This record gives sequence, structure tokens and C-alpha cells, in this order.
Amino acid sequence: MTDTIVSLSVLLATGQASSVELCQDYLGRIAQLNPLLNAFVTVNTDQTLLDAAAADARRAAGDIGPLTGVPIAHKDIFCAEGWLTTCGSKMLSNFVSPYDAHVIGQFKAAGMPCLGKTNMDEFAMGSSNETSYFGPVKNPWDTRRVPGGSSGGSAAAVAGRLCPGATGTDTGGSIRQPAALTGITGLKPTYGVVSRYGMIAFASSLDQAGPMAQTAEDCAWLLNVMAGHDPRDSTSLERDKEDYACDLASPLAGLKVGLPREFFGAGLTGDTARAVEAAVAQLQKLGARIVDIGLPNSKLSVAAYYVLAPAEASSNLSRFDGVRYGYRTPEYGDLAEMYEKTRAEGFGPEVKRRIMIGAYVLSHGYYDAYYLQAQKLRRLIAQDFVEAFKECDVILGPTAPTTAFKLGEKTADPVQMYLSDIYTIAVNLAGLPGMSLPCGFDAQGLPIGMQLIGNYFAEARMLNVAHQYQLATDWHTRAPLLEV
Ligand code: GLN
Repeated sequence: MTDTIVSLSVLLATGQASSVELCQDYLGRIAQLNPLLNAFVTVNTDQTLLDAAAADARRAAGDIGPLTGVPIAHKDIFCAEGWLTTCGSKMLSNFVSPYDAHVIGQFKAAGMPCLGKTNMDEFAMGSSNETSYFGPVKNPWDTRRVPGGSSGGSAAAVAGRLCPGATGTDTGGSIRQPAALTGITGLKPTYGVVSRYGMIAFASSLDQAGPMAQTAEDCAWLLNVMAGHDPRDSTSLERDKEDYACDLASPLAGLKVGLPREFFGAGLTGDTARAVEAAVAQLQKLGARIVDIGLPNSKLSVAAYYVLAPAEASSNLSRFDGVRYGYRTPEYGDLAEMYEKTRAEGFGPEVKRRIMIGAYVLSHGYYDAYYLQAQKLRRLIAQDFVEAFKECDVILGPTAPTTAFKLGEKTADPVQMYLSDIYTIAVNLAGLPGMSLPCGFDAQGLPIGMQLIGNYFAEARMLNVAHQYQLATDWHTRAPLLEV
């Protein structure tokens, strides 16, 4: 099962496979490997096969889009009608969504069966998938290691070939960092390109959904399905529909690639630095020109993010009160006690930490000192990119400072964990598109990812660069050997 989404669409179009057959194969692999990886929270074989049969019927009737019948998995942050939608939390461990997120609706309309809902850090807060109420996800390259987070279930499922592609969300790096740690390709679009309707909110000004798959080409096709205006999300942008695959074949001659000094300094381990430098050389061979750039304020991005994201989270998560849906404590005296016990029992420690930080930085007397300062830093960080993109077309650097770390290695030290996103967070603060793609392996055989950052709405250009790189290299084709 090493097929890409594009190759599966060819199998379907030429009648070499039906959607039901493809789904049966993937469901079989999920049944065999999910006990090892814990990548899926929910699998619903009957529903998947119904979706697949409907896709095959659509094809027989001539009602087909490019991906009709190709199966996909969804991060458990997306509300999907009739599916348990937990967001990795005890708080929503019994929540069956009565409606579809915009993203889910788009994939349904495209005729793509859902293979299941993937595990994730609780409310997308984490970089290792260890904050999930449903237990950690294991990295298919080494099951003693984390897959990254928070979209770690989606990343492990794609890397382990339990599905050909999956959705993820990225608030500070949650698509790109797990993509890097599992050797797959993942893209976070420009803020506002994909609707957040029905995507459980963490930090609304930063959250953005995107595709995760083996290749940049697959990501382009998936983004074609996901992107587009949706009046139900007030930050969804009204733009003409774009074809993100239209530029894939363009040659890279003349491309200006910016290398931020700040991303290549101390902190980057030897193997990652070497792999990213080799990727730069490869792009030069393909005709790219290297430009030295600076992102002087990017070193402040983790600090700014850990004020702003918790502030928004503390507000967004106030809705989980045990009244209308989700978990409610079984025993309580009055309403206040019901709220307190529900939230004390329903949220895990990392979520509570964020709620407390958020409530603190927003409170009277601290708002100016923390929240307002962080907003000012956010503007400076975004301004750095405006300057940088006057000199280059895309920015290149590492995605994560290290390869996959061991389960439990960073759980006792939240700040160490937060630093996993040191190269990705600035992109969310600026609202820019970014992606991670495989560019090598370290001495232990663990995948290394490189990050591309584009200017606003430069997804197609970024995908073009990534695709041309993938035509010249084979890192993205390597798959872990999993015993079945
Ligand atoms: N790791 C970061 C955090 O814990 C980013 C998470 C994300 O992008 N959802 O907040």
C-alpha cells in the first residue's frame, strides 16, 4: 500500500480498482496496525464501506470528480455527522457530532470515503501526541518514539500507509512538525483559505486546516478539495477558486530561495542541518538562486505564541461546561459544582495549564503587560516576513529542531516541548502558508523534514517547488517497515 492519492485516482479511473476494494485494503491494514500505532481513535467499517459503495455508484453514473472514491482519514478535531468527534479529550469522549465541518462536507461532496478519525493531542495542544486522552500515537519509524503533534495520528497513519492522505490542523506547527517527524508531506495554507467552520477551535486567529500526504502533488489535489470561501466562517476569505496543482510542472530556474540566518544557527542538530543544506544544494541544481535573509524577530515567536494561543484557548474552551454536550461529572450538588467538577475531570493537565495561562494574561492588570505586548510582537514578526519576501520567492529552513524524540522524553518539561515548534510558529503568527517535506534521515534512520514558507496565497508556488524537489529526490517514497 504505497500508493499515492494521484495513483489511486488513476486506478479508479481506469477501472483497475473500485473504491470498495481500496477501502477494504486500507481498513485491513488499519485493523492490523492500529493496535501498534494508536493512530485512529474511531474506525467505522460499515460507514466507510457505505461511503465507498456510494462513490462507486457515482462513478458508474458518470458523476465524478478527480478524487471520487479515494479514501481519506480525518483528524478528530473535525466535526463529522454521525461520527464520534473527541478532539483527543475526555471532555468530548462521548460526543457524536450532529453536523459536518466545512472541510468534511467538501470531502464528502468530492466523493471521498472517510477511513476514520485520527488521534491527536488534546484540543490540539501539544507537539508529541502525548496529551491525548486516548493515549499516545507511536511513530511508525520507531514505535518507542513520538510522531510529533498535534496531528500525530494523521501523520502516523499516512507514514504507516494506513491511509493515503489525511487532514490536519496547524495552530503553531501541528501539520508541519508531525509531517517532519514521520517523513511525510504536509501543508498549512494561508490563514483564511480553508474554512474553520466545524473545526473545534483552539486559537481562532491561528488555527488553519490543511492536507497531509506522501507527496506535494497529493497535497495540491487535497487542498483543491478543502479550500474555498465559506460564509459560515467570518475569517474565510472570498477569493476565486484556485487550482493548486496548476503550477506543479513549472521549472525552478530563476527561483529565489531565502535562507533565514536565524534558522541555521545553534540549536539545529548536525544531521538536520546537513540534510537541509543538501536540500538547498539540490534546489540550486534545479536552477534556484539562494538569498540570505533575516527574520530578526522570529526568536520571539514562541514567547508571543504562548501568550496569544492560551489567551484565545481560555476563551474558546469556556464553552465546555457540561450543560449541552460532552462530558458531565456524574455527581454534583449545585450548578457551580457541576461546572467545576466537569472541567476538573474533563480536561487534561496541558489543557488546564493553557486555560490558566490564558485567563492570567487576559486579566485586569496583566492584559497590557502580556497580551498587548504579545500582539505587538506578532505584528513585528509578520513585518519581518513582508521585508523578506521583497527579496525572495520562498523561504527554506528546517521544520523541527530535532528528529522524533522518545515517548516521555519531554513530558516533564513543557518549555522543552514548546520549543519543538521554534521554526514553525512564526508562520502562524504571520498567517502565512508553510509546508514540510521529507529531505533525509538522521544516523538513527529517523526522517528529517525541511520547511518551505510562502508569501500570502503562494501555496501553488510552494507546492511547485516541493514537487520539483520530489521529482529529483526519493526521500518521500521511503516507508517504514512495519510488521503485520
Ligand atoms: N505545539 C503547539 C502547541 O502545543 C502547536 C499546536 C498546534 O499547532 N495545534 O500549541
